[in-house]
Amino acid sequence: MRGLMMDQPLLISGIIDHAARYHGDTEVVSVGIDGHRDRTDYAGVRKRSLKLGSALLKRGMKKSDRIATVAWNNFRHLELYYGVSGSGLVCHTVNPRLFPEQLVYIMGHAEDRIVFFDKTFLSLVEALQNQLPNVEAWIMMEDHDEELAKEHSWLEFYEDFIATGDDDFNWPDDIDEWDASSLCYTSGTTGNPKGVLYAHRSTLLHAMMSATPDVMGFSARDSMVPVVPMFHVNAWGSPYSAVLAGSRLVLPGPFLDGESLVTLFNEEKVTISAGVPTIWAGLIQYLETSGNKLPHLERTVIGGSACPPSMIDKFRDNYDVDVLHAWGMTEMSPLGTVNHLKNKHLDLDADKQKEIRLSQGRPPYGMELGVFDDEGNQLPNDGETQGNLHCRGGWVLSDYYLADPDTTIDDGWFPTGDVATLDEDGFMQIRDRSKDIIKSGGEWISSVDLENLAMAHPCVADAAVIAARHEKWDERPLLVVVRKENDETGAGDILSFYSGKVAKWWIPDAVEFVDEIPRNATGKVRKNVLREQFGDVLMET
Ligand code: AMP
Repeated sequence: MRGLMMDQPLLISGIIDHAARYHGDTEVVSVGIDGHRDRTDYAGVRKRSLKLGSALLKRGMKKSDRIATVAWNNFRHLELYYGVSGSGLVCHTVNPRLFPEQLVYIMGHAEDRIVFFDKTFLSLVEALQNQLPNVEAWIMMEDHDEELAKEHSWLEFYEDFIATGDDDFNWPDDIDEWDASSLCYTSGTTGNPKGVLYAHRSTLLHAMMSATPDVMGFSARDSMVPVVPMFHVNAWGSPYSAVLAGSRLVLPGPFLDGESLVTLFNEEKVTISAGVPTIWAGLIQYLETSGNKLPHLERTVIGGSACPPSMIDKFRDNYDVDVLHAWGMTEMSPLGTVNHLKNKHLDLDADKQKEIRLSQGRPPYGMELGVFDDEGNQLPNDGETQGNLHCRGGWVLSDYYLADPDTTIDDGWFPTGDVATLDEDGFMQIRDRSKDIIKSGGEWISSVDLENLAMAHPCVADAAVIAARHEKWDERPLLVVVRKENDETGAGDILSFYSGKVAKWWIPDAVEFVDEIPRNATGKVRKNVLREQFGDVLMET
């Protein structure tokens, strides 16, 4: 017998419809590229998203056509999120920090028909333009600018474009919840980027779960800043999940330095934010030198790469900000786990609680994790046995977009490429990327653990640990360090910091000092570059 309940498809347009109806006057603040703040609300965002959707369909876009964005976090980008997906098209968010060849590859592979971009990226777009002959319109996300129009005959302007839309347009009614809604490419350190094609349904399931208390915990009392860019896995879904909950949204534009963020957080009374560790390192450095505080910020989600424990402590102890350490991947929309204690942990002493909080956390309903050996056998969830981390769930990809047949996911689990432990409560701890883990004399050494410890050293501004080739042990850990400004601390001092904190044989063999750790477009350390540079230094000695 079937249940007798209504059939309401899970559509992205439904999020903004709800927000406009029940949180219509809730503010959306948006920082422009010149630093000024625009203010609109959810009723306004919906109205203009609809008009934009109408303009796109009038321009001849057909169901599931890809529309690219190259843009910061701002109100027009939010309108594109809803206007494009809401009208049955696919919102392809492009990461402008990628190399131009990668951008040409990605936008060609996606067959984007229209590209919307922020003025900041005009010269980038100019360089791409003649390499992407199939793009039919290049639209700058600005008011009409006669001077620029004269200089660039191919250029269109967002406000002109949106004006061609109808005011009485409504979302098309032929959109299924399984239809594609948005597209992101993974920025792997090797090989071509791969497309992850999200559906309305997966986006809604992810958004609904993300808003629950043990994930991001958004409410209509929150004021939220997604520091993570809207071109990086849809800002971790927050432009859907925070809007669904009716949170006030504050979009920071291009200003992601410590001072700009602290000013924005404090002036706009922001309660929750989300971003990668490198951003927070800059913010903490600014707080420490300026003496500023964060009187309104209650919590922040940190993920994308391992959050050093020293960062969690500093936020809690010095600024009264709760860090929600999270793990995820583009392929998982992205949320996989978030660290929140359980009821049974509340009576534990502070040190024990702190220990639990160090892991990447546990999966919410809808996400399942498992650790496997190299032969595909599932390993115990005992908090100690480490293995290849696989996952499955309603917001995990089933295949890459137009993928090579050999990348097909065929056993029902998505292999994440991470190496992790899982305990019986589901708390997951990343030990490494499988290709980054260090195998010394047949034993595994976690580069993540060694990096976390190095980051706690008072003289270290940034650090990475790689596997360097070694005659006797095959591989040994090598620490690459950026010292804080004007600091001259030597290798011996930094290495002695490990004594008593890790097993002796884990301590890196040497330290290389550099001015900067190479990172990819999403802030992840490019260990292949470091390995190329320093992989043989232990062989020479
Ligand atoms: P991306 O798809 O670009 O978001 O990259 C996903 C990868 O980032 C994961 O497979 C992890 O290796 C890494 N990652 C994400 N969050 C964390 C975290 N909290 N700790 C350690 N690694 C992380």
